[in-house]
Amino acid sequence: MQIQENISLKPYNTFGMDVLARYFYAFSTVDQMQEIGASDSFKHYPVLVLGGGSNMLLTTNFDGLVIKNEIPGIELLSEDANHYFVKVGAGVDWHEFVLYCLEKNYAGVENLALIPGKVGASPMQNIGAYGVEMKDVFHSLEAINVDDLNLVTFYNSDCEFGYRESVFKNKCKNQFVITSVTFRLNKVPIFKTGYGAIEYALQEMKVDTLSIQHIAQAVMRIRNSKLPNPNVIGNAGSFFKNPEIDTIQFESLKKYFPNINGYPTDSGKIKIAAGWLIEQAGWKGYRNGDAGCHDKQALVLVNHGNATGIEVFELSENIISSVHDKFGIFLHREVNIY
Ligand code: FAD
Ligand code: NAP
Repeated sequence: MQIQENISLKPYNTFGMDVLARYFYAFSTVDQMQEIGASDSFKHYPVLVLGGGSNMLLTTNFDGLVIKNEIPGIELLSEDANHYFVKVGAGVDWHEFVLYCLEKNYAGVENLALIPGKVGASPMQNIGAYGVEMKDVFHSLEAINVDDLNLVTFYNSDCEFGYRESVFKNKCKNQFVITSVTFRLNKVPIFKTGYGAIEYALQEMKVDTLSIQHIAQAVMRIRNSKLPNPNVIGNAGSFFKNPEIDTIQFESLKKYFPNINGYPTDSGKIKIAAGWLIEQAGWKGYRNGDAGCHDKQALVLVNHGNATGIEVFELSENIISSVHDKFGIFLHREVNIY
């Protein structure tokens, strides 16, 4: 077991924050994870589990142990009349898994094409895009309990999935290391093209007979046209969650801001696009030094080169208070802050 010391995390987070990890260990099997879990460094220092580093803002050196999950493997476990059950190692790239499904014609993840990060992090915030959430195709996951190092299985109802939420961000925070996820994919696709931009992209592509491959292509087209590529401009995707407000507040806001758009949620609330609120508050394209707000999507905070995590965090504080002053809505961060 080789634990490295004083490792720069710059290559391991998509914001490109250059902070040091006191200890660093990459594991690619469940046994290796259990071995590091039994080590003194694991017991005596704070531990940070790292996937692709695409949903975190590192604000300072990490005086503890960073463990990077690199467990590989995609395996068809079984099938029934309607589904394929596919087990995927937590260290597999999410998009690589989507491409695998597209090639095999396994339906359900096509709307989630091109999301950065690893499969093991996908249940953390129940990743979602274009009207589909990971929970829609989730069957179960395996995770190591950091207290006793036992491998346990979580099924859908155990995970308490919500909008960019799961039990792993709440009552089980820092308690489990996810080692694999098993997905239940559809043999017959259920096409979801209800997000306006997808319909538009499909029209532009002049698609006659719709397929999951076309949907993925449309999604990739849209994403490439408006989201910054982390290899070029540091970012972690949407920095804030879309707030949900009650209908009374929505109706009263509509009187002052007739262009405000709201989407009814299952819980009877109205979801507002956080990007729109931030843009209306004047932040789109804002830049202070190398910390900024993307010029095509205000919801994405960016590192133009040498911004520090603290600078991006302070920008996020300023955005929260200015949106609150203008709309009376409090934004919550989606990105994990360390
Ligand atoms: P990391 O950033 O490495 O980790 C995120 C959190 O999960 C951390 O708290 C970490 O400790 C924990 N964690 C990671 N792996 C494990 C594990 N195996 N076990 C236990 N804990 C773990 N998200 C969406 O939901 N929808 C989108 O459409 C989307 N688009 C994005 C676009 C861009 C350009 C970028 C940069 C990000 C986007 N994201 C999106 C956010 C991000 O890609 C996802 O949240 C992704 O699932 C994070 O995966 P990761 O492996 O990089 O996680
Ligand atoms: P968009 O299409 O410009 O829409 C803005 C917001 O309005 C989205 O956040 C979306 O909420 C909501 N919305 C739009 N159409 C909707 C509909 N028909 N029903 C319900 N809600 C609707 O958004 P975008 O920024 O280009 O992102 C497109 C998709 O990719 C979104 O689903 C977004 O969540 C996802 N994405 C996520 C991240 C991330 O880091 N989390 C980064 C980039 C893109 P929802 O966000 O709830 O879908």
